[in-house]
Amino acid sequence: MGACFLVALKRLGVSADPPEARRRPAIWGVALATILAINLGLAGLVLGPLVSVESMIQGMEALALALLVAGIIVITLRCIRLSLMIIYLLSMAIFAQASIAFMIAEHWSHLWWLAHVIFITGFLLLSYGVVHSFRTTRSFCTVYSQAEVMQQLRDQQAQTQEALAKLEVANTRLTHQAATDWLTGVANRRQFMKQAKEELARAKRYDIPLSLLCLDLDHFKVVNDVHGHQVGDQVLKHVTSTMENNLRPQDLLARVGGEEFQVLLPDSDIHQASEIAERIRASLHELEIRLHDKVVKVTVSLGCAQRGQDGEDIDSLMRIGDQRLYEAKALGRNRVVTGASIWIQVDTQGVRDPGSRFKGGPDR
Ligand code: GH3
Ligand code: MG
Ligand code: MG
Repeated sequence: MGACFLVALKRLGVSADPPEARRRPAIWGVALATILAINLGLAGLVLGPLVSVESMIQGMEALALALLVAGIIVITLRCIRLSLMIIYLLSMAIFAQASIAFMIAEHWSHLWWLAHVIFITGFLLLSYGVVHSFRTTRSFCTVYSQAEVMQQLRDQQAQTQEALAKLEVANTRLTHQAATDWLTGVANRRQFMKQAKEELARAKRYDIPLSLLCLDLDHFKVVNDVHGHQVGDQVLKHVTSTMENNLRPQDLLARVGGEEFQVLLPDSDIHQASEIAERIRASLHELEIRLHDKVVKVTVSLGCAQRGQDGEDIDSLMRIGDQRLYEAKALGRNRVVTGASIWIQVDTQGVRDPGSRFKGGPDR
């Protein structure tokens, strides 16, 4: 057993032989033949005239002691700290004690029985180590490679971490996609409603102004009819980025329909809202979209609503904003309707008319 320990120690860290090699009858045959030869040799020695039973036992125990101590020294010098090998070391120490006890005890004496008890203790401890390892590794082939099992565990953990990181990236992408309009990249209706409700609650809590713009491109169907749907899509993208350029970082632009948009303007009363609306209207009026040697021009009509005077919830603001948008359409398009009793009208020539409640240029 001591010799087997030393062989096992020598192979510690070496990966297990492949299953075919382990099943080769020659290996088992040689091992069994060696054990048989040793046993027969020992029996021959004991039965023969040369060596007495007593000296034979003493010699065998001394040899076992030497091999076990050698095993303990190897484990200590190699600083092996694997839990299974610590159990081996303790078992070897106990077997070594049992060997000493067998060497010094007389047959049938108390010490002789005690030597058996010590040996059994070592054997039980060793069995515990082997069973424990088997339960951990589920295999007798890998029972000696706890380091390998730990490495596998680390690899699995790394794989799990990697999969989790990928999942997180995919989730972030999905969350972004669920909140974004596929064509223009601005917020979609769902995201707009969510953020609008949050901003409205904040505005109510701190009693600060908040306004809403409802926008609809004028005669956009004509753009599609004349230039085709693909050009229409490109126009929508250009229009969106022009609108974004006229907004502040805290404003939220969303595409809520085909050529319909809404803008949430936190911390803005109706006057600030109408200024922003006019800025957007004028920029789009000026915009010349060049696509495939064609120049496309669009205008937009806008309706504004303000928290407080036009309602406290998002549905009321959207309803009033939409009403004013249709009013802007009815008044000739390419204009802003605010609902404020005193406002200015700006036509394309820049003439100001205090007293009107809408502003914008003539319909084209
Ligand atoms: P109005 O001034 O009254 O708003 O006229 P309009 O033509 O803009 O309005 P209408 O509702 O009659 O038509 C809207 C058009 O917008 C019809 C449709 O072809 C176009 N449209 C809607 N969504 C998209 C889109 O995603 N891409 C493109 N290219 N066109 C779209
Ligand atoms: Mg429309
Ligand atoms: Mg339209």
